[in-house]
Amino acid sequence: MPNIVVVGAGVSGLTCALLLAKQGHAVAVVAKHMPGDYDIEYTSPWAGANVLPMASEKDSHWERRTWPVLQRLAAEVPEAGLHFQTARVLRRAADLNLISRLGDDLFEPNPWYRTLMPNYRELPASQLPVGIHSGCEFTSVCINTPVYLAWLVGQCAALGVTFRRATLKHIAEAAGMHHLGGQADVVVNATGLLACRLGGVMDSKVYPIRGQIVLVRNEAAGVMPTVSGCDDGEDELVYIMQRALGGGTILGGTYTKGSWEPNPDPDIAIRIMKRATETLPELTGGKGIEGLDVVRHGVGLRPGREGGVRIEKEEIDGVSVVHNYGHAGWGYQGSWGCAERVVELVEEVLREKEKAKL
Ligand code: FAD
Repeated sequence: MPNIVVVGAGVSGLTCALLLAKQGHAVAVVAKHMPGDYDIEYTSPWAGANVLPMASEKDSHWERRTWPVLQRLAAEVPEAGLHFQTARVLRRAADLNLISRLGDDLFEPNPWYRTLMPNYRELPASQLPVGIHSGCEFTSVCINTPVYLAWLVGQCAALGVTFRRATLKHIAEAAGMHHLGGQADVVVNATGLLACRLGGVMDSKVYPIRGQIVLVRNEAAGVMPTVSGCDDGEDELVYIMQRALGGGTILGGTYTKGSWEPNPDPDIAIRIMKRATETLPELTGGKGIEGLDVVRHGVGLRPGREGGVRIEKEEIDGVSVVHNYGHAGWGYQGSWGCAERVVELVEEVLREKEKAKL
């Protein structure tokens, strides 16, 4: 049975570990941070998260392959922590010329995902808020990320995957860390943002995209609005999503490229809350920001990468590595598609190794 070490216990590493274990491989996960931790170096727990397709049509395969799985989990596996919600994507008149400023297709009129997401419809003019040029609605999911990450750990453990905390200085160290001993056949690198600092990888194309959020106890009545822009600055966003299983409602946010700042900025927090209560007054029964019941303020750093996600194999100091990092703001909604590709690449490496033995 091939031995695989997965470095990283965020949504990328855990989904890879689960699919590799399902293939019958002996999988060990090694990570500095695990589900349950809240740390600026560990992105996954900070995400909302929901599914708002953002890839261009040409790069949409990761999201296309992931959606059916998340849809099935929401419908059939309540303990995974997902539930169906109505996504409402609002395009401001003022943003029409810069709608792709985040480099994504979410706010495109007539988007490719109209045929992927159930119950897609353009909103009639009579249902558009003031200042909104057009918009659409569709059925999506919101993921209670702490619950979902813990569920992934449980699914992995049930298939014999082992978990170990360690901080690696070099990716090749992972090969010697399998619970069965010896050298692992393949190492999967799912280190997210820290791929820019890990020896043997040191990917200088990786950079943080800071996202500040507010988690509140108020509920958003099944609707997840997001707006194409706001008047508070180019890197400030408007999105609201209610997590499943009492996970509270996430108010977002920001999208600041290159910022490693780990502390929430109080002025930004006030602007986020103000925009959220203006966009969805029902959140506080019309009482505005004063009616919000805050659980916590937080900051997560999305793992951005010039040129996009890196999913490829590489030989590093004699160790076969398959990379899977750099998912920016779509790590959950592309997680299963990316992990399937990782499995394909791992199988390719194993076949090459078998051939070399003959
Ligand atoms: P991480 O979660 O950062 O995991 C990296 C793992 O590698 C950790 O376990 C870490 O400890 C380990 N590691 C790193 N270096 C080492 C080392 N040297 N030694 C040992 N272990 C190491 N995505 C969506 O799909 N939908 C959303 O709605 C959404 N909303 C978001 C909102 C915010 C505010 C933020 C910040 C992100 C959001 N995202 C969303 C993006 C998503 O959260 C990320 O793309 C995803 O979490 C990246 O996961 P990852 O597993 O690649 O990285």
